[in-house]
Amino acid sequence: MDWIPTSPLQWAYEYYNVDWLFAQTPSESSFANAFGQEAGNAGDEDNFVIDQRGYKYIFVQEAREIFGQNLEDPRLHLSTTVKTIDYSAAESGGDIVVTTTDGQTFSAPHVISTFSVGVLQNQDVNFVPKLPDWKKEAIFTFAMTTYQKIFIMFDEQFWGPEQYMMYADPDQRGRYTVWQNINAPGFFPQGTTANLVMVTAIDDFARRNEKLTDDEVKEEVYQILKEMYGNDIPKPTDILVPRWTLDPLYRGTYSNWPIGATDQHHDNLGAPVGSGNTWLHFSGEAMSAELFGYVQGAWDEGLNAATTVAACLGGKCPTVDVFEAVTTCAQTATEFTRRDVGTKRKGMLARRGGRRNRK
Ligand SMILES: Cc1cc2nc3c(=O)[nH]c(=O)nc-3n(C[C@H](O)[C@H](O)[C@H](O)COP(=O)(O)OP(=O)(O)OC[C@H]3O[C@@H](n4cnc5c(N)ncnc54)[C@H](O)[C@@H]3O)c2cc1C
Repeated sequence: MDWIPTSPLQWAYEYYNVDWLFAQTPSESSFANAFGQEAGNAGDEDNFVIDQRGYKYIFVQEAREIFGQNLEDPRLHLSTTVKTIDYSAAESGGDIVVTTTDGQTFSAPHVISTFSVGVLQNQDVNFVPKLPDWKKEAIFTFAMTTYQKIFIMFDEQFWGPEQYMMYADPDQRGRYTVWQNINAPGFFPQGTTANLVMVTAIDDFARRNEKLTDDEVKEEVYQILKEMYGNDIPKPTDILVPRWTLDPLYRGTYSNWPIGATDQHHDNLGAPVGSGNTWLHFSGEAMSAELFGYVQGAWDEGLNAATTVAACLGGKCPTVDVFEAVTTCAQTATEFTRRDVGTKRKGMLARRGGRRNRK
């Protein structure tokens, strides 16, 4: 609480410990929920995955158990974009109707949305009727962050063997601060022509980068690397600049719990809409109070949603609490004795006197 960074080095230190995890600044992240989450989950190891089969491999393997080796089960519709979810018939016991951009329609009494908070905020999908106010408030209360991992390739490795490099920009906090050596021991092989460094940009700075061309970003990071390693370094041969916010299927990278968002807002975020035996459920990483922003949170919430739907189909739909008018956090008063109040007042007068003296 007493940490107030004032120098570029302190900014970099703080960025590494906060922004680089939550993809938002300390003044945006909830102390109780975001920082609290990290304190509760920090493990001893921090692993960086370089498996070339990609992150989707895990899910494809899982899906094969249900949809067959070639994923050709007609129930599975890959690369199909949802345009509208119509739950207007719920009250009269009718199904929810999902329409896709290629004109297909699907109907069912239970539908699970796993759209990111960013997709929901951006209103890329139409809900009929519009989502209730308590739901919209929750969607807009939470943050969809942008965590941009920029990969830069060189013909030769001019940086050292260590995994991390830090740059403390003298003027702008969070400008290309944390660099990672992708050819560090245990990562990609050394001594080839594929020499990679990765630098992370977050939040406003990442969104600003998304609007630049690849060549503009390449030139910028080249200038920073020259400041770090001197003017004799070679020019980058290639660059990868992800643009998560501009992607209509993501609209950012993962959610964060901002200052001011309460548990009730979060309950509303995950609460279903519908009626009777027809419900539109909301799942995905953001719905996990413990592990929002993480794959594990998405996994847990997927399991929760599936369990809920199974219970509903068995005629035992769990009840849900919705907070229709969230005001503020419930607070417990701290009672001071008269003596405490007296001491406080004296203190205030003394400070006022102090200010006058300085004039
Ligand atoms: C750069 C980056 C770094 C990350 N680092 C880590 C990390 O180190 N550790 C960690 O645990 N997590 C990390 N995450 C977060 C993790 O990837 C997410 O929390 C997780 O993937 C969320 O899963 P999800 O199922 O909730 O959402 P998503 O994976 O976003 O799945 C939502 C799906 O909905 C689809 N979709 C969206 N709109 C439509 C539409 N209109 N119609 C049909 N389909 C649609 C999308 O295509 C997507 O497949 C990182 C994420 C990014 C982007």
